[in-house]
Amino acid sequence: MTALRRVQPDTPHRRGWCPSLARPMPTGDGLLARVHPPLGILTAGQARAVADAARRFGNGHIDVTARANLQIRGVTEATSSPLAAFLTEAGLGDRRDDGGPQRLTLTPPLAGHDVMALAWAIEEIGLEIPGLPAKTLVAVEEAGSPFAASLAANDADIRIVLDNTAPIPGRAERQRSTIRERAAGAMAAGACRVALAGPDGLAWFACKFQEDAVSVVDVALRSLAVSGARRMRDLPATERNGLIRASRDHLVRVPPVHPTLRPHPEAPGRSGGLERGLQETHLALEASFEAADAAPQDEGAGGRTAVCGVIDLGDGGTALAIDSPFGRCGADSLDRLADEAEGLASDIHLSPSRGFVLLSSHLVGAERAQDALAKAGFITTAHDPRTAVAACPGAPACASGSTATLADAARLADVFRPFAERGLRAHVSGCAKGCAHPAAADLTLVGVAGLYGIVVEGAPSALPATQLTFEAALERLRRADPSTPLSHAFRTTP
Ligand code: SF4
Repeated sequence: MTALRRVQPDTPHRRGWCPSLARPMPTGDGLLARVHPPLGILTAGQARAVADAARRFGNGHIDVTARANLQIRGVTEATSSPLAAFLTEAGLGDRRDDGGPQRLTLTPPLAGHDVMALAWAIEEIGLEIPGLPAKTLVAVEEAGSPFAASLAANDADIRIVLDNTAPIPGRAERQRSTIRERAAGAMAAGACRVALAGPDGLAWFACKFQEDAVSVVDVALRSLAVSGARRMRDLPATERNGLIRASRDHLVRVPPVHPTLRPHPEAPGRSGGLERGLQETHLALEASFEAADAAPQDEGAGGRTAVCGVIDLGDGGTALAIDSPFGRCGADSLDRLADEAEGLASDIHLSPSRGFVLLSSHLVGAERAQDALAKAGFITTAHDPRTAVAACPGAPACASGSTATLADAARLADVFRPFAERGLRAHVSGCAKGCAHPAAADLTLVGVAGLYGIVVEGAPSALPATQLTFEAALERLRRADPSTPLSHAFRTTP
């Protein structure tokens, strides 16, 4: 991994989405450079810049990650610095140089202003916290987001679900052209639910106002940074409970004030004496900061649900959601996507299902783009069998892999189709680490010395039932009755 080198002095003005250098990481096909589009949104020009960068400084392969970032593969020591300068020039440079998260929040595509404003406020807070672990993640979404399951699968340290906001932004909001315009301004004062990850899963709480959630996140992130733990879930339950108590105290002692927040007209402590204000604040927060009985509906759903195809936005507008097969996108495909985005006058919204969403003011345009992008190799309908299979880069891209996972996953998807129609999911993993889907799948093929360990209803790290060549595994599936459990296809005794 190369060291960061800041190219401009750090000033509050420049500290936003400011220029700095990408941080390539070693893999099997050279160095890998992560690109973190601000709030997961690229302009068509930026997408072309990434495609160009992948060709000029990498091997032309680009990963679309489950955190809605991009990875340029095949970078070398010689090309890493010019690549970083190139990305900086395109407005895609890193935000911080202390090893902390370059992008702290994950929001769904089609998120409305409330989500964007809250995510922006949290990004700003994160920049002020030294020592924040690199993988820290705060997922922010509206209740009812079609991408909720994909967000839930991301193992966030903190998850925030806004209640009573439209899951899809209205036409006027969609027409705001820049990310700053969409995220700028006052944060709405609606209620939300906040979850902190722990060793025993997510603990949900209700916050009466979104600004309370900002304060809770601030305290939680600072606690995580000083704890030495890498993830919130690594904190023992007692520490997490202390953190929750600290959040409540913090809210009581310091009524949340943030430049992007506006006071809610009913918020206590906004008028009258300080003492009375704090007392009322305390009472209100006691009422608002209660453990929520029910987590959002998608909680525990696991896996990633494909949201592909043309989506009617209800006011004459449409969106086109597509996925990259197994999270891989070539530079030429990304150029093709940029062409279609430009044709629709849309930004490119990265999705946590490892794909993209474009907006269109008319159905015909969205359908034309859908056809064009299907020809470019993207998954453009939810019925595509590739939506049922996850795969990591595997060999030769990753040094830990011994099998060609991407090619094998494409073939497996075809054979697995009858099982996918029953709602089953498969995963082809280059090794037991399971980068593409660390959780359990109905069927997981785990690469081991050129063969595959077969895990039925388990995680990649589980003990395989048997070990087969890929061809033998395919043959077992072809012969299997799709109406019977998968374990029948891979049993080791007659
Ligand atoms: S699962 Fe293993 S082979 Fe696949 S990308 Fe991760 S480390 Fe590499």
